[in-house]
Amino acid sequence: MSLLVARGLTRRFGGVTAARDVSLSLAAGEMLALIGPNGAGKSTVFNMIGGQLAPDSGRVALDGADVTGLPPRALARRGMGRTFQVAQTFASASVLGNVRLALLVHHGHAFDLWRREAALFRAEAMALLDRLGLAAEADRPVAELAYGDVKRVELAIALAAAPRLLLMDEPTAGMAPAERAGLMRLVATLAREERIGVLFTEHDMDAVFAHADRILVLLSGRIIADGPPEAVRANPEVQRAYLGAAGLRAASRAGRPAGRGGAA
Ligand code: ADP
Ligand code: MG
Repeated sequence: MSLLVARGLTRRFGGVTAARDVSLSLAAGEMLALIGPNGAGKSTVFNMIGGQLAPDSGRVALDGADVTGLPPRALARRGMGRTFQVAQTFASASVLGNVRLALLVHHGHAFDLWRREAALFRAEAMALLDRLGLAAEADRPVAELAYGDVKRVELAIALAAAPRLLLMDEPTAGMAPAERAGLMRLVATLAREERIGVLFTEHDMDAVFAHADRILVLLSGRIIADGPPEAVRANPEVQRAYLGAAGLRAASRAGRPAGRGGAA
């Protein structure tokens, strides 16, 4: 069974139909990229799945249960996680403190952090930081970290809730290319090893073609392509409408291991 199934999601803003009859499915351990030009409707679809925005019509199911219209907190309890921006972390607190707080909240101990249980979830938090390559930064305030490390702290906070489905809206926005590749590699590894389904939007085509198992292309609120990277790259409508054939070939070649991008 698919982890996530969306059927016929539609949302209008005044005269604009931001998403029209959008359907998608996502399996455990799968990386699904949602791409399209600015204004295509990516964030609208994302927010309808994440519970920030109610659809005008259509349904969302998680593990076969209808979750349409549930608020983000209810979705989080059912295993849907989401990365948030820097402002959502406590920048003056340490990396370890932020991750411990996320673990405490997940386990229903939010108030204990400020009491005596200084060791509570410390080992779990360190294990998670180690997994993300952040162990050496554990005691540093988040405010002191390089931008790429802050993004990894955001990921650690999301993972503290042990999500089975992770939504990431432009996870690499503002990052340098080398940092972007590193973060996407890390997310892809976690998805496969922990069997987390990941739905992400992304502007960087290198990151998309290197790490997505499947790509969904939106144009003016409609899905115009849904398939593995090779098929999407070869889709004439995608090339015409969105990326331009040359740009898409270059992007997909740059993002894939040698020998896999040469056929296009
Ligand atoms: P993307 O994330 O792909 O850039 P969006 O989902 O943000 O696209 O936007 C899709 C369309 O819906 C755009 O035309 C945008 O102007 C419009 N739109 C999105 N959110 C709102 C809103 N809250 N109010 C009015 N129009 C919106
Ligand atoms: Mg957007």
